Amino acid sequence: MRIKLGEEEQSFEYGATVQDILKGFSNEHTKGAVCCKINNKLIDLKKSIKRSCTIEIITKKSPEYIDILKHSASHILEQAVKTVFPTVKCWRASANKIGFYCDFDFKSPITFEDLSVIEDEMDKIIKAHFEITRKEMHRDEAIEIMKEANEPFKIELIESFSDKKKIILYSQGDFVEICSGPHIKSTDQIKHFKLTRFTGSYLKDNKFGIDKKLLTRIYGVVFEKKSELDDFMKVYLEKKKRFRKNFIK
Ligand SMILES: [Zn+2]
Repeated sequence: MRIKLGEEEQSFEYGATVQDILKGFSNEHTKGAVCCKINNKLIDLKKSIKRSCTIEIITKKSPEYIDILKHSASHILEQAVKTVFPTVKCWRASANKIGFYCDFDFKSPITFEDLSVIEDEMDKIIKAHFEITRKEMHRDEAIEIMKEANEPFKIELIESFSDKKKIILYSQGDFVEICSGPHIKSTDQIKHFKLTRFTGSYLKDNKFGIDKKLLTRIYGVVFEKKSELDDFMKVYLEKKKRFRKNFIK
């Protein structure tokens, strides 16, 4: 297959991963790549490519990078919650405009103080420098892995997919999540984050036929620079204070 990158074009073996493909191009084109874009879709460096295409490099300076950070932070949140609350059941980890979030089914309600315990655990995961790996597999294998992880909502989700659909699982340490990516290379690429709040959230996904159930959604924010996090938190806490004042009036 033929892969184009900038002005360069090279031949590669069918199924080569993006990171192997990048090694075939000159360093000036691939320097600082954190992931790629193919046909306007973000693609992980670990994904294998199965047809000729044009690759666009995404670096830390690309506007897309923050979305990859947010999404990766949501997996770290989920892993941390599973460590702190081993009986929790998780739904999906995701990113939104402001930051990231994940829905959980806790045995008993959490408190605001729990957020700082979870943050400390997230810090440990970040400092552990876990490599983030991607694996495609058959539905049945993914179901077995989710059974071991004790994640019934995810088993239900995977069971709702067609038997022919390849399931993608991302892992870091002993944590595993169903996800199409892309993600950063390792957990330590997350530097500046904060959990902000939690709310009730209904698990209701008609598309997957999953029942309505009240879960707890934990929200957080992540930034590339510490100053961005500090600026965000200053405005956020100010808004929160004003809201409380008005509420008490
Ligand atoms: Zn993900």
